[in-house]
Amino acid sequence: MAPKTGEMLHLRGNTLDKGEPVALPLTQSSMFHLPGAPDGHDFYGRVNNPTWEHLEHVLAHLEDAPCLSFPSGMGAISAALFATVKVGTRILIPSDGYYVTRVLADRFLSHLGVSVTERPTTTFAEGGFDGFDVVFVESPSNPGLDMMDLPAIASAVRTAGGITIADNTTMTPLGQRPLDMGIDVVVASDTKAMGGHSDLLMGHVASRNVQILERVEEWRRVSGAIPGPHEAWLLHRGLETLDVRFDRMCSSAQVLAERLAGHAAIQSIRFPGLRNDPSYALAKAQTARFGFLLSITLDSEAKAEEFINSCPMLRPATSFGGVHSSAERRARWGDDVNPAFIRLSVGCEPVEELWQAIEASLNAL
Ligand SMILES: *Cc1c(COP(=O)(O)O)cnc(C)c1O
Repeated sequence: MAPKTGEMLHLRGNTLDKGEPVALPLTQSSMFHLPGAPDGHDFYGRVNNPTWEHLEHVLAHLEDAPCLSFPSGMGAISAALFATVKVGTRILIPSDGYYVTRVLADRFLSHLGVSVTERPTTTFAEGGFDGFDVVFVESPSNPGLDMMDLPAIASAVRTAGGITIADNTTMTPLGQRPLDMGIDVVVASDTKAMGGHSDLLMGHVASRNVQILERVEEWRRVSGAIPGPHEAWLLHRGLETLDVRFDRMCSSAQVLAERLAGHAAIQSIRFPGLRNDPSYALAKAQTARFGFLLSITLDSEAKAEEFINSCPMLRPATSFGGVHSSAERRARWGDDVNPAFIRLSVGCEPVEELWQAIEASLNAL
């Protein structure tokens, strides 16, 4: 069910006593006043913090599931993986998803006796999940924007006795709800659209599976991978405008994708909201919006660089999901894509202003 973002905005307000601040207070304290027995009170900053607790309340409202927040998306992904694997576990991850997740699996999990198998996103449709304890999915994939049939995968993996973890960073809970499709655990980088202002790193884990979430909480407490109260406060502030930002970004992405598809400088384009895109049918079935990420491939690496660096309304930067539109050539990080492939993250600029800048820069190439 779609999250009620109006209710989200009043979650705190409706619990206030007379004279309390309406805005969320930032609690920057490692110690809590604790005479006598601790009995359920906040007691130490690695374990409790009222600012994250309220942030998690808001995240839980968005995900319709209990949530734990982390100091980055990778902090959340590490927690979900370390909470679910042990020696002998077999995990399956996409070979074309977010690359640091693969590095974590290859450089750390595999050294601890976890067997890691990688497969391209599009082959997940063929099944073959028998023997895997953990299946990690990302849909749409970053940066290729290929999609997976999440309900089918969730049910096939469950039947085979495994659990599924979905990285939902690119869609946010407003765009796609993997838990409602049977996925066991959602992980996300809140550094991207959730925070939305390119001024923080954060992440979260959401799950309706109590045992898994308890392990994730224990991991956070003992590993010390806790969010800073200030970042938690900033993320909470960002979430208050997520609905309007996401709406603007997705609507603008649709307009831009349709116009870019007809522009002579574009060799190819991927956007799940274009009717002839390979992801269109799955996106239509599974997502509430088509997202704000699109990719275009130009004639050459040189033209791609010139476009990114000359367009006054595109920040040449890695990462995505901010209010400022941004773009980058993913091949510069070693992603297995055409050197002229550009990932474009559509921001909150008025769409006509954005299109005029993009069109003028493309025409000048
Ligand atoms: C950015 C990103 C991450 C990692 O998040 P950080 O906040 O940078 O640690 C994980 N998955 C996806 C899909 C991402 O885009």
